[in-house]
Amino acid sequence: MNDQPVPAESTERVPRKRPDQTGGPGSSQPTEPRPHDPTDAAAAIAPPAEDGTGGAPNPAGPPGPTELAPPRGTGDVLPPESWRWQAATRLAMDSFATAGYAPIETPIFEHTEVFERGVGVGSEVVGKEMYTFSDRGGRSLTLRPELTAPVMRAVLGHNLHRARLPVKLAYAGPMFRQERPQKGRYRQFSQVGIEAIGSMSPAIDAEVIEVGDRYLRDAGVEPTLLLNSIGHLDPGCRTGYLKLLTEYLVANRSALAPVDIERISLNPLRTFDSKESRTIEVMRRAPMITDHLCDDCRNHFDAVQSHLTKLDVSYTLDPHLVRGLDYYTRTAFEFTAGGLGSQNAVGGGGRYDGLAESLGGQHLPGIGFALGLDRILLSGFQTKDQSSPVAAYVVAIGSAAVEQALAIATHLRAAGIGADLDFLDRSVKGQMKDAARSGGRWAVIVGDEEIAGNNVTLKDLGTGEQETVALDKLEDRLKP
Ligand code: AMP
Repeated sequence: MNDQPVPAESTERVPRKRPDQTGGPGSSQPTEPRPHDPTDAAAAIAPPAEDGTGGAPNPAGPPGPTELAPPRGTGDVLPPESWRWQAATRLAMDSFATAGYAPIETPIFEHTEVFERGVGVGSEVVGKEMYTFSDRGGRSLTLRPELTAPVMRAVLGHNLHRARLPVKLAYAGPMFRQERPQKGRYRQFSQVGIEAIGSMSPAIDAEVIEVGDRYLRDAGVEPTLLLNSIGHLDPGCRTGYLKLLTEYLVANRSALAPVDIERISLNPLRTFDSKESRTIEVMRRAPMITDHLCDDCRNHFDAVQSHLTKLDVSYTLDPHLVRGLDYYTRTAFEFTAGGLGSQNAVGGGGRYDGLAESLGGQHLPGIGFALGLDRILLSGFQTKDQSSPVAAYVVAIGSAAVEQALAIATHLRAAGIGADLDFLDRSVKGQMKDAARSGGRWAVIVGDEEIAGNNVTLKDLGTGEQETVALDKLEDRLKP
């Protein structure tokens, strides 16, 4: 939303090394897990590419080695980091579900017009950042840059609003924007979010904001909540204000940074998002939307604040907070967090009472937010269940025990206890080393003696203590 405006495609490139191709496909991958940072990943292993995308095999020359780096601005999420990702997503969806938000999955790509009509061609996202392509049937499709418009399309298309209002939906998944990659800003990134569709009540604005705030806190992010109202498109409200703002910007045109001048006609509200010091200075004295709200929007905004105060959600009023997307009305908010450098927005949202109509549907108000999962993880998301769920590693002594080891692991898994074992014919010493690598707490050791006695030797890999456990008691012994 209020993310820093992005210059058009940069030709600037990070120096990159060729992958080592001598030892098979895995050899160019770093052995140490590292934090998910697609800009790093590309810098570490991608050879230079003329188009800045991360490189592709040269069609003119002999077939070269396959490019092992993902495209620029994208990244692989590897274990153990991937456990954290999964936990953060699960925590979000579970947390949203407690407030009645049911999961929805929509396609990764949509008809381009869903975004052109639903987000608006004047927006930064639609105008400059979308991955749009024609399929073999000549249809224009776009990788989704956001999910509010697709969710509204799905609601209208399936008449969900005729069943029960408000329609409350939650999502998690990848989004795609061709931005200039940097820490916290990628071309494929993940969002979790909710949408509440069909209610004009200020109470639902407060519910949505509280749900986002609580999730961020549970995820260990200390968010700052910025709040504003941007009114609605009516001559007595935002439309009238935009006229005043445009007049002010035209009068101060020469003092604005050159990149912001085109915004006067395209999307004057976005001049508040400028990172250019000259423009920021001009905007300090600009007329503010909150001084020009109509009575209904003012009352709505006052009620949202009163609900938030009652819910103990602290917020800071920010009259300069605007949303980059055209369909937003009234409540606009943003969550920021420390430690993220310039990309400090962890999420944002607002009301979009005009969206359903711009997609050709009836009037259907709505409010929601999207939170950036990549930034939540960068800002230090921690959780208890973020490591491998393998609790036990079954060690087979001698070939006769291999069959029994797999049977024991399968039995434990069926009982809900994570179990792993060796598949590389390792020695007992090798298996014990692998057990330590598996992340499991226990080694369940089985050899001829144990098979004969219908038991196992159980070793606590932390303390080194060993005990004999009857096979039919193993499951109970390992249950946490
Ligand atoms: P928006 O959909 O623009 O309102 O963005 C909502 C949140 O998604 C932002 O606050 C970021 O946390 C995250 N986000 C947006 N764009 C990107 C990006 N290119 N890379 C990583 N996260 C992003």
